[in-house]
Amino acid sequence: MAKYIEAKCRICRREGCKLFLKGDRCFTDKCAYDRRPYAPGQHGRARKKVSDYAVQLREKQKTRRAYGVLECQFRGYFEKAEMQKGVTGANLLFMLERRLDNVVYRLGFANSRNQARQLVRHGIFTLNGHRVTIPSLQVKVGDIVAVPEKNRKISVLAEAQEVIARRGCPAWLEALGADFRGTVKALPQRDDIQFPVNEQLIVELYSK
Ligand code: SF4
Repeated sequence: MAKYIEAKCRICRREGCKLFLKGDRCFTDKCAYDRRPYAPGQHGRARKKVSDYAVQLREKQKTRRAYGVLECQFRGYFEKAEMQKGVTGANLLFMLERRLDNVVYRLGFANSRNQARQLVRHGIFTLNGHRVTIPSLQVKVGDIVAVPEKNRKISVLAEAQEVIARRGCPAWLEALGADFRGTVKALPQRDDIQFPVNEQLIVELYSK
């Protein structure tokens, strides 16, 4: 599978907002976006005329990169979102939010979505009692994500649990950190996605 290997902080600077790709570091004064809130490169600070297309493209790239999804997979989510009832843009965000790696991150078992994806791939978690290794699995209401006893000594889990207090857990999930498990109480709502995104721009981009 293709992998994005560019420096993560460059992504935030390119997209013009904090995407919290580096875990704890994002909350410290070492955050590259806080120190240099302009695009990377020689012309990063230059004023540019921005077309409608460029605005739509940046919104899509920002969302895709925040969730760590590759282009073809993101397009696939959009096509599924279009076929569902309701607002396409919101459907797209809900599908991204319901990915297992995102849920693991939101429950505080990982410092970043990238780390969550790696932990899921290594089979650290169970979903409803069964070991899972697919980060893109969509969770459902009532699902239980847990860490089996034998995996609880992994140091990144303990570190991530400390950070969740600062990051907070969304209302649609219930984190029971002491028991190393979390439940999906409801489906995510638009207000649960605090990441600054205008999903309508993504819909416009893909509808051209
Ligand atoms: Fe983005 Fe985190 Fe790097 Fe800051 S520290 S620029 S939020 S990845």
